[in-house]
Amino acid sequence: MLKLKMFINGEWMDSLRGDKSHVVNPAIGKIMAEAPQGSREEAQMAINAARTAFDSGIWSDLPASERATYLFKIADKIEEKAAELSKLETENTGKPLKESEFDIADTVNCFRYYAGLVTKPNGQTYSVADPVQAMVIREPVGVCGLIAPWNFPLLTGAWKIAPALAAGNTLVFKPAEITPVTTYKLFEIMEEVGIPAGVANLVLGGGSTVGNEIAESQKVDLISFTGSTATGRSIMNSATGNIKNISLELGGKSPNIVFADADFETAIDYTLNGIFTNAGQVCNAGSRLLLEESIHDKFIARLVERAKKIQVGPGDDSSTEMGPLVSEGHLKKILEYIQIGLDEGATLACGGNRITSNGLENGYFFEPTIFVDTRPDMRIVQEEIFGPVLVVQKFKDEAEAIQLANDTSYGLAAGVFSQDGAKALRVIKKVRAGITYVNAYNLAYNEAPWGGYKQSGIGRGLGTFGLDTFTEVKQININLDVKPTEWFSN
Ligand code: NAD
Repeated sequence: MLKLKMFINGEWMDSLRGDKSHVVNPAIGKIMAEAPQGSREEAQMAINAARTAFDSGIWSDLPASERATYLFKIADKIEEKAAELSKLETENTGKPLKESEFDIADTVNCFRYYAGLVTKPNGQTYSVADPVQAMVIREPVGVCGLIAPWNFPLLTGAWKIAPALAAGNTLVFKPAEITPVTTYKLFEIMEEVGIPAGVANLVLGGGSTVGNEIAESQKVDLISFTGSTATGRSIMNSATGNIKNISLELGGKSPNIVFADADFETAIDYTLNGIFTNAGQVCNAGSRLLLEESIHDKFIARLVERAKKIQVGPGDDSSTEMGPLVSEGHLKKILEYIQIGLDEGATLACGGNRITSNGLENGYFFEPTIFVDTRPDMRIVQEEIFGPVLVVQKFKDEAEAIQLANDTSYGLAAGVFSQDGAKALRVIKKVRAGITYVNAYNLAYNEAPWGGYKQSGIGRGLGTFGLDTFTEVKQININLDVKPTEWFSN
């Protein structure tokens, strides 16, 4: 069994109190690794190490090109170990191997993207009144507290670690309790390539202890969090003590709008992709299907036919198209939402049950599920379920589609399917969401900004915006005529 450790100030360590937790493979319900459970004390040690490393300039004073060299080496090592990392990601999260392989490849690209980006021009000069030359430079923010969720463990980690390091920051990273394995491996790689001690620290442990300490600490300058909106709200409150920079990538209940003039099979295909990839445990999942009334019945019939064919099974089986849910606790939450939907009066067009047949009885497998006959006020329409559960809403015209699309507290993603390009763009422009798609769904690129409107978050990860998140902007005004101003009488 894999035994994980924390990595603090360049040293591997167990928890000071000897606390441990078991990491479970959700496909078989068996322990795959043992992880130390840190407390506030280990979090403070890591924060102190990151603070000392930052203040020493050991990392931030390096030329960007040297920091980039480290990032390129990290990318190369991840690539070398891609098969091992993909296998571990699948064992820990349950996702099909091909999804893990995609995530690991994207992680490699993320490190390479920020290694390249940080050496590109990033300042500005301003033409102001003589005799002053004004300019802007970007500097690292300082110590970054990075907190990640369990659905894309390594990838969401890379989305934070790569730009934070590229920009010259030091960091304390906390993965989700249940999925620490590939992050632990990433820290082994960072040690291997020689990232200086204290620059990148890994603390394993709970949200209310380790996570909260990072969010509250006066020595942390920035918090970058990806996770649920409820936790994001709590982190925002905790971060007020020293007015931290804050970046929040939170939950969603994203509308996928299909008009009658859409290419039918393309819309069907992306709708399935939008909700059943990673068993629906995707922040930008198209979890609300908004269907134009005239095609509702035909579309649902075909969608149900396709959903029933999805091969659910263990991620390491090459025929598997959808793996288990990530944990027993999460399975319980999804089952509760099914009951809520039924109690509210919605109808199950398919799915709704745990799967225990054909050797799947020990894992947390769930049927691809579609709810119809919904009302906008239902909890299953308003709340993020975060599983393979699609909720269908009907609309009559463009105006109603837009109104329903915007009728939740979230604003992460949205899709529109129509062969009328002008209509599709009109609708996209009216939808309050940060990540949008036309005739597609579920795409994500290292090059493009990622984040949401409304209660789906603050700020943007990825792309040039993602690097900006990890920098402070400094204005420099240089007097070119060095003599007293005589503003006050002499
Ligand atoms: P979560 O909010 O339960 O946990 C996320 C992380 O926060 C974990 O590491 C957890 O230990 C930590 N945490 C919990 N309480 C904390 C506290 N009080 N202080 C500090 N840290 C704390 O989320 P999750 O269940 O791991 O992930 C699923 C959620 O993440 C979904 O809502 C999903 O939409 C969201 N998500 C968003 C994005 C995005 O880019 N917008 C990406 C992936 C996941």
